[in-house]
Formats: sequence, C-alpha cells, structure tokens
Amino acid sequence: MVMETTSWVEPDTAPLPAGHAEAAAAGARLKIEREHHKREKRLCRLVGQAIVDYNMIEEGDKVMVCVSGGKDSYAMLDILQKLQARAPVRFELIAVNLDQKQPGFPEHVLPQYLSERGVPFHIENQDTYSIVKRLIPEGKTLCSLCSRLRRGILYRVADELGATKIALGHHRDDILQTFFLNMFFGGKLKGMPPKLVSDDGRHVVIRPMALVAEKDLVRWAAYRQYPIIPCTLCGSQVNLQRKQVAAMLQDWEKHHPGRIESMFTALQNVVPSHLMDGTRHDFKGLTATGTPDADGDKAFDTEEFPTPGLPSMQVVRFDS
Ligand code: SF4
Repeated sequence: MVMETTSWVEPDTAPLPAGHAEAAAAGARLKIEREHHKREKRLCRLVGQAIVDYNMIEEGDKVMVCVSGGKDSYAMLDILQKLQARAPVRFELIAVNLDQKQPGFPEHVLPQYLSERGVPFHIENQDTYSIVKRLIPEGKTLCSLCSRLRRGILYRVADELGATKIALGHHRDDILQTFFLNMFFGGKLKGMPPKLVSDDGRHVVIRPMALVAEKDLVRWAAYRQYPIIPCTLCGSQVNLQRKQVAAMLQDWEKHHPGRIESMFTALQNVVPSHLMDGTRHDFKGLTATGTPDADGDKAFDTEEFPTPGLPSMQVVRFDS
C-alpha cells in the first residue's frame, strides 16, 4: 500500500501559531518555548518521514510500543500519539512494558504515566532478573541472556495482544553506533534496520525513531519531564565497546560538523559495486559492455568531495 506523505509529514514551512511568533521576542522563556515547538515539529516530521520511507505503519495496524521507562521509548510513544491524531491511516497503539523484576524497579511509575496519557497499555510481569542472575556466573555480562529472554516474551505478548507491528525506540545514533560496532568488532558492514522481520519469522519490528538524533531526544525528554526509570537497576556493566564508539561519534560531531549527518546519509546510499562483497555484486561475471555510459565508472579519476560546511564549489581531492 502506498501511503500519502502529506499528513504524516508536516512541511517545514508551516508558520508558528500567531501567539508564539508574536511573543517570541518578548523574553527568554518564550524563546525557549519556541525552540521546543520547533523541536516537536522536527521530531514529528522525522518520525513521519521514517514511517513513510519504510512503510512502517499501515491502515488497521495495531502497534505494540515497547516502553522501558527510558527517554527514547517515552518520546516514541509521545510522537506516535501526536501523529496518530493526523495520520492518513487509522492505527491503534498499545504500550507494553516488561517488568523484569529488577531490584528497585518503581512499578507504579509507568502505569500511572500511561493512565494519565490515556494510552492503552499492558504490563507484563516476568522475573527474568532472577533467571539471569541464577544462570550467569558473577562478573559475566548479563545482557545477552537477558535480551534473549526479553525478546521471546515480547513476541509472545505481541501475539496475545494481536499486535501487527512491534515498535522499538532506537534512534539515529543507536544505528550509527551499531554500524561501527559491527565494522570494528564484527567484520561486517551492517547497521540496525528501520524495519525487519523477527527471527521467529512471525513479527514485523519497526524503529520509527530511526531518523531522529539523540541530542534532540535528550532535550525533548527534559522539556516533557518524562518520569525516567534508570536503566542501571540490573547492575550490569555498560558495554565498553559501545561506550567507546559512542564517545568516538560524539568527538566527531564536536570537531567535524556534518560528518555524522553524512555518515547517516551514506547508510541510505549504498553502492554494492564499489564495495568488495561478491555476493552483492557479480565481480566474477563482470565484462565490458562496449557501450559508453556518461554516468559510468571512470576508474582512473580522483574522487572529489564537497568540504563540509563550505559552498559546494570547494572540493578536497584525494588521489586514488
Ligand atoms: S542492561 Fe540489564 S536489563 Fe538491560 S539487557 Fe543488560 S542485563 Fe538486561
């Protein structure tokens, strides 16, 4: 089904509400409000764009929104609710939280928040914490068994609720981090897909926040004052490799403006004939066609790239 883009994605040029625009210059508080209003529009536009680009949500879908109590999943639910009101297709949302019985998990927080927001929800109580603690020796990382158990439970819950899509809150920076982790430590050119079929073949998993930058989510979450539940309750150590890659990307973002955006665009612009995977491109069977092609590969020329932040006339040259 081809979806219209008009209602999912509001154009950038829509004017601010008259009250906001008139009062913007009046003081710092209103200026901040305006920034948040712009951020909300940007978040809605990017989530709407991802939904359209990857055909994530269709007419009649029941979307199971996985909510952990972290900023990303709160924001995902928030933005999907806003889009639901104006989307060109009708779809349901149901928030699901898996209470893994980690010590100190504040079990009243999510039901209270979700009730106040008027979102249908389901809390699944499963003590995976005890299972993981019993099976994994002290000092070893808990995450791989924990996430395997969580995955199985969420698939079962999706079946029981009749959900047609499972939505996860991963964002642009999660995708880039995963891409580099796979390249640095896994020997694969592989990121994190915006939409996929689950490993049991029975569910479609979507990542509506795939185009959203984490820095926007941090500011949005602070503004919306989500009741954040810390993700360290299980006592597991943060993955050191992911931490290093995140720090590398933050450093690039600080010192090389535009690099993160360019890398993210690259993930949507793959040229298999210019990589080295023989299963993606038939290098062995390649023969000259004899037909000139103005857009064809020039092979001997040096590549030219626009310099970030400068007019496109400026180029840096790299000899091949
Ligand atoms: S950080 Fe804790 S809750 Fe999260 S996957 Fe790892 S063990 Fe599970």
